[in-house]
Amino acid sequence: MPLPAEISLDFAFDEPTDEAYLRGRVARAVGVASSDLPPIALRKRSIDARHGVVRFHLLFEIGASDAVDLGAPHPREVGPSRVVIVGDGPAGLFCAYELARHGIGCTIVDRGKPVQPRRHDLKGLHKGEPVDADSNYCYGEGGAGTYSDGKLYTRAHKRGNVRDVIEILTRHGAPESILTDARPHIGSNRLPQVVTSLREELERSGVTFRFGARVVGLLIKDDARRRVTGVRLADGSEIEGDHVVLATGHSASDIYLMLAELGVQLEPKSFALGVRIEHPQPLINRIQYGALASHPTLPAAPYRLAETVDERGVFSFCMCPGGFIVPASTQPGGLVVNGMSLSKRSSHYANSGLVVGIEPADVERAGFPGILGGIDLQRRLETVAFQAGGGRSRAPATRVTDFVAKRASSTLPASSYVPGLAAVNLAEVLDSLGLPIANRLRAALRVFDRKMRGYVTEEAILVGVESRTSSPVRVPRDAETLESPDLQGLFPAGEGAGYAGGIMSAAMDGMRIARKIASIGG
Ligand SMILES: Cc1cc2nc3c(=O)[nH]c(=O)nc-3n(C[C@H](O)[C@H](O)[C@H](O)COP(=O)(O)OP(=O)(O)OC[C@H]3O[C@@H](n4cnc5c(N)ncnc54)[C@H](O)[C@@H]3O)c2cc1C
Repeated sequence: MPLPAEISLDFAFDEPTDEAYLRGRVARAVGVASSDLPPIALRKRSIDARHGVVRFHLLFEIGASDAVDLGAPHPREVGPSRVVIVGDGPAGLFCAYELARHGIGCTIVDRGKPVQPRRHDLKGLHKGEPVDADSNYCYGEGGAGTYSDGKLYTRAHKRGNVRDVIEILTRHGAPESILTDARPHIGSNRLPQVVTSLREELERSGVTFRFGARVVGLLIKDDARRRVTGVRLADGSEIEGDHVVLATGHSASDIYLMLAELGVQLEPKSFALGVRIEHPQPLINRIQYGALASHPTLPAAPYRLAETVDERGVFSFCMCPGGFIVPASTQPGGLVVNGMSLSKRSSHYANSGLVVGIEPADVERAGFPGILGGIDLQRRLETVAFQAGGGRSRAPATRVTDFVAKRASSTLPASSYVPGLAAVNLAEVLDSLGLPIANRLRAALRVFDRKMRGYVTEEAILVGVESRTSSPVRVPRDAETLESPDLQGLFPAGEGAGYAGGIMSAAMDGMRIARKIASIGG
């Protein structure tokens, strides 16, 4: 009888790592002698702590050529640059990587700085210095992905080759565990070196990187069909290219404005707004793992919550176990919070976005008309949050129990948010938009407390505001050519264009664009 291609084994209490033992268990499970078993490789690993026992699920491939297969093709030497990629986030970087695999040269331009000087600017932000509009948690080498949490889960498996992206990251210094973990995670202490290593490999292939290069315009040739021929930078210089990939992320409001002025079609889309919620991690571990909370092999517990309130989704977003809340604004005078963690996920806190879905009709109702109304609304909320926090990146915050009881907090527990918190009534910040965001959050919190007993506690705080979950605007592209229907040669890509939501999907979208460009002859 032929052997199965893969087999899943369950182990209670402890995870065996001895290779001979594991081969023996797999052999027994498929009914052959160990000596007759072809090579096996661990392909997926997950832990389940439900039902009072820690169980390890291991999925093995049978007949695998080796345990870690990093056989995906490398970039090769590229020809002269013919593509301009705007944005060095996951979409832009992986687009360049895939182009280089096809031998196609490109120039990546990014308004921000390389990782090292960028890190210096982030430190300043934590000390309360004003945000640099070109160098912050969203802008700079590696984009919003570099100092992110580095969770690599995605539901976008159909949109590209997840394994390929994971293998590339592993080859550039990400831990090999991401090849098998069901919930792969890198952490923001390791991401900068991964991003740097990717750049160095691309530079060796002949790809050009330009930092501190903010794109302010597109070069356009008006022939039979309007066509883009390059980009204009803030210093007045120009870079020419046959194709322009626009991968500027979800915060590039100036790019949307520039596109609208050039007559490039934009569409409003749904997005989400809300707060970050932070609990002590041991509390979340107790809720999620019960009596097993102190089991040494269990990671800091994650959670995922979702509920519909008055026809709008309220959900946890980008949950960071053992993480930190960080100031992620891109503009002085505005406050945005987000979450990240280090690879060990060892901080005392668990934070997560807790956001409410916003539809284009809500934006209109709140008095922000037009295609860019969603961006105006985001910026308005961020300004109110900045003022409520009292400036210097201090964030307005309320205990969860006070928020549910509709009152301000007079004191706050300790938090991972370094720039400091101001005890306020956060509902007033959210209500300033005239949308029922605070009420929906309150209703959902009551439900979440039933799903996770103890979730609503005075030990937990809400910190404002989580406003950059995704872009409120989509830049439409032709389903076949992936170009803007209004401008030949312009390829909107990644999260900012509305085709991705997270590191993995943005990277896969960039690669898809690259393959399309390669298919039309670079
Ligand atoms: C703190 C934080 C934590 C996160 N955690 C996770 C996580 O754990 N997992 C996950 O999947 N996602 C996470 N994300 C989201 C993830 O980082 C983004 O979804 C992803 O980076 C989007 O990729 P992108 O390439 O489309 O755009 P971005 O990464 O946003 O990159 C856009 C780039 O374009 C550049 N740019 C913008 N405008 C211009 C211009 N005019 N000229 C030149 N360059 C320009 C910017 O400098 C930036 O580098 C997190 C984000 C943040 C901020």
